[in-house]
Amino acid sequence: MLGSMMTRPLLISDLIEHAGKYHADTEIVSRETDGSLHVTTWAGVARDARRLASALGSLGMTPGDRIATIAWNNHRHLKIWFAVSGGGMVCHTINPRLHPEQLVFIINDAADRVLFFDTTFAPLIAATRAHLTTVEHFICMGPRDPEVEAAVPGVLFFDDLVDAGDPAYAWPALDENMPCSLCYTSGTTGHPKGVLYTHRSTVLHTFAISLPDALALSAAETVLPVVPMFHANAWGIPYTAAMVGAKLVMPGPRLDGDSLLGLIDDQKVTLALGVPTIWQMLLAAAAKSGSTMDSLRRNVIGGSAAAPSMIAAFRDLYGCDTIHAWGMTETSPLGTANRPKGKHGDLDADAMALLRLGQGRPPFGVDLRIVDDAGCPLPHDGKAEGALQVRGHWVVDTYFGRQDNALTADGWFDTGDVSTIDADGFMVIRDRTKDIIKSGGEWISSVDLENIAVSHPGVAMAAAIGAKHPKWDERPIIVAVRAEGAEPAEHDILALFDGKVAKWQVPDAVVFTDAIPLNGTGKMLKNKLREAFGNTLIERGL
Ligand code: AMP
Repeated sequence: MLGSMMTRPLLISDLIEHAGKYHADTEIVSRETDGSLHVTTWAGVARDARRLASALGSLGMTPGDRIATIAWNNHRHLKIWFAVSGGGMVCHTINPRLHPEQLVFIINDAADRVLFFDTTFAPLIAATRAHLTTVEHFICMGPRDPEVEAAVPGVLFFDDLVDAGDPAYAWPALDENMPCSLCYTSGTTGHPKGVLYTHRSTVLHTFAISLPDALALSAAETVLPVVPMFHANAWGIPYTAAMVGAKLVMPGPRLDGDSLLGLIDDQKVTLALGVPTIWQMLLAAAAKSGSTMDSLRRNVIGGSAAAPSMIAAFRDLYGCDTIHAWGMTETSPLGTANRPKGKHGDLDADAMALLRLGQGRPPFGVDLRIVDDAGCPLPHDGKAEGALQVRGHWVVDTYFGRQDNALTADGWFDTGDVSTIDADGFMVIRDRTKDIIKSGGEWISSVDLENIAVSHPGVAMAAAIGAKHPKWDERPIIVAVRAEGAEPAEHDILALFDGKVAKWQVPDAVVFTDAIPLNGTGKMLKNKLREAFGNTLIERGL
């Protein structure tokens, strides 16, 4: 027997219709590519999304077609997201920081028919368009601009299309299992792979991340997604903001500390989200300007491990509660968020601070396990370390265009991360499988060593890597970037490790460098560091 309730598909178009209807006058503030601030509302976004969807139909786009964006976080990008997915097409967000060859590869792999781009990227489009064989229309995100017309002949303009579009366009009734968006993994090894989200997976993820024990979004919040819309869907924030009717503040191209600080203070941002490198710049800007960031109650740090010193700075200097979260492009992205339980109410400040350092626990809809090298599940005792595997409603099954699924024989997705999980479900990332340091066969977590190194005020950024060693195979060393104006000595940094880790885990050396190479989403490229510094100990004759 079946139940007898209404069945309505879970669709992206309903998110924007809801926001447009019930949060009509809630503002969307965004930094234009020319630096000015633009203000619209959820009603404005909904109206322009309908117009744009009708205009894409007039250009011959049909359900399932891939429509790409190379764009900053701004109101036009937001409208494209809802227009494309709501209209049944697939919104393919592209990271502009990819190497041009990779960019061409993924556009061709996705067979994108339309490419929207911010004016910033006109030169990139001009340089690569000869290789983009599937793209029929290039659309510049702005008003008509003769310079862009000269650089990209035949280009169309977003504002013209929206002006000509039909504001009474009716969203199509779609199957909730149809694809709505496509995002490629950052591809630090090999070619990037596409993750094709469905309307259903996205709406379920949107419900889950809004919950109080995840990111706690509501109509009372003003949210600043610094995390780009091309990085794992800006962690789902544009959808969630529409679902709950939050005010959105979009930073456009200006991601430096001073610009973000200005937006936080002027727009009274209550919740901001981004990767650790962003927060480092923000903290430096706040320290310099003396701003106390009074409105900022919470921030979400993910993408790479948040250092304890960073979490403490937000808490102690700015009264801002950091939610440390973990996820991947393959998990939509939210997998875990660090929110204490009722039973943790009695913890003293130190114990609570320790609990809050990890990546947190899964919301309903995500299941986690850790396994050993043979694939056997390990205990959730907070001590056993193993390969982290995940399954759930918004976890990838099969990469775009591939035949076989990406799962283990018993249906789990292997994340490539190594972690512990405790009895309450709190997960702590210890390393990437590829980056873990093996000294004499024993594992050393590079995360622990990095956290200790960056607690030195003279260190702006640090990576722990395995350097070749004749006896132990690999030994840990620290590659550090000095803080502006600081001259920390190697022995001072090494002294910090005394008593904090076992003696055999203390790094053998600290080498200084001007900058640590980062990938397009701000993750340290340790393979490049191993190439550059892997022979340090041999060269030093240690
Ligand atoms: P991406 O798909 O590019 O977002 O990369 C996902 C990977 O980023 C994960 O598998 C982790 O290795 C890493 N990651 C994400 N969040 C965290 C976090 N909070 N702490 C440590 N690593 C993280």
